[in-house]
Amino acid sequence: MKTTSTPQKRRHSVRVMVGHVSIGGGAPVVVQSMTNTDTADVTATVKQVAELARAGSELVRMTVNTDAAAAAVPHIREKLASMGVDVPLIGDFHFNGHKLLTTHPACAAALDKLRINPGNVGRGSKHDLQFATLIEVALRHGKPVRIGVNWGSLDQDLLTQMMDENARLPMPKDAQEILHEAMVASALNSAQRAEQLGLAHDKIILSCKMSGVQDLIDVYRRLAERCDFPLHLGLTEAGMGSKGIVASTAALAVLLQQGIGDTIRISLTPEPEGDRSREVIVAQEILQTMGLRAFMPQVAACPGCGRTTSTVFQKLTQDIQGYIRNHMPEWKQAYTGVETLQVAVMGCVVNGPGESKHANIGISLPGTGERPVAPVYVDGEKTVTLKGDNIAAEFQKIIEDYIRSHYQTRT
Ligand code: SF4
Repeated sequence: MKTTSTPQKRRHSVRVMVGHVSIGGGAPVVVQSMTNTDTADVTATVKQVAELARAGSELVRMTVNTDAAAAAVPHIREKLASMGVDVPLIGDFHFNGHKLLTTHPACAAALDKLRINPGNVGRGSKHDLQFATLIEVALRHGKPVRIGVNWGSLDQDLLTQMMDENARLPMPKDAQEILHEAMVASALNSAQRAEQLGLAHDKIILSCKMSGVQDLIDVYRRLAERCDFPLHLGLTEAGMGSKGIVASTAALAVLLQQGIGDTIRISLTPEPEGDRSREVIVAQEILQTMGLRAFMPQVAACPGCGRTTSTVFQKLTQDIQGYIRNHMPEWKQAYTGVETLQVAVMGCVVNGPGESKHANIGISLPGTGERPVAPVYVDGEKTVTLKGDNIAAEFQKIIEDYIRSHYQTRT
């Protein structure tokens, strides 16, 4: 079995319940995602929420931006319940949330959490009144709130005030530092105001999202030092494809390693017609590769090199990963702990046997010039050598047998 060192102790935070899901207070880091359907389109939104939940999203957020969207939320909740999908739902409110939530109390009742952006609840004299209205709705319905600051919509009145104060100092600080401080102040001041309005301490989650990796790390470190609210982590506007995945991973891994972060969302831009569930898989893979949680059996595979002239092992790795992902919902229902299984698919004899021995099940395929045989290792011992055209199916059977014999069935 692989050995791993563990991240630093998790930062202490209060526990907030969002529906049946615990956030903070030592609970495992929660994976969440957000829909990109028109929330007013009940059918499309229900379908996507169900897909995200099936992929492993433990909370799903949806925008609530119009009367039609607010009116649709209770129907979305009902349809999901009729399908047996009980994932907690979060409403994302900007600009008109105070109006929508007061006009549509059934929307507030159907949601498990409200996300409020303090930079988008109104400017000047309207800000406090509209913020208070949102908090009163949360109180009336007993809902927790995420105070979600975003640098793209940071409270401009607060930022201007802090920049002006800084300019009057004999030795003004760097403008970027004031921006970071303003992000943190916006979150903490809003949380304090929410508590003054009666919202319980354990009904508040904070986030301060930025799009720069170093900016995000700095802001969350400051935030983590100054409060014990659970923190929602996410690199905003992370981007598409590998850029979005790498930037999100770089930022979140540093923070998670330091024990900062209680729930994460990966803000990936999907390719046109792309799968929205990708952001859920990336979030799970970040947590699992860091040893923080286990969601899915992991497949270790070498990159291949000049010693492998065929694509056999690439194909086998792809087949095994697909096979595991497809079977996981059924295995997870049936067997306890199956998500911790580790599989290795290696391209040649150089590192193949060694890596295979460290996994629960490993296969070392023949490289160029090697004998056309593939030894299989189970818990470090060579058990069988596969050959011929049926290696993929035989290896899958070995995985299936291992799961049946090594993991306890759920009663
Ligand atoms: S295990 Fe073999 S095929 Fe894979 S990268 Fe190493 S040397 Fe190349």
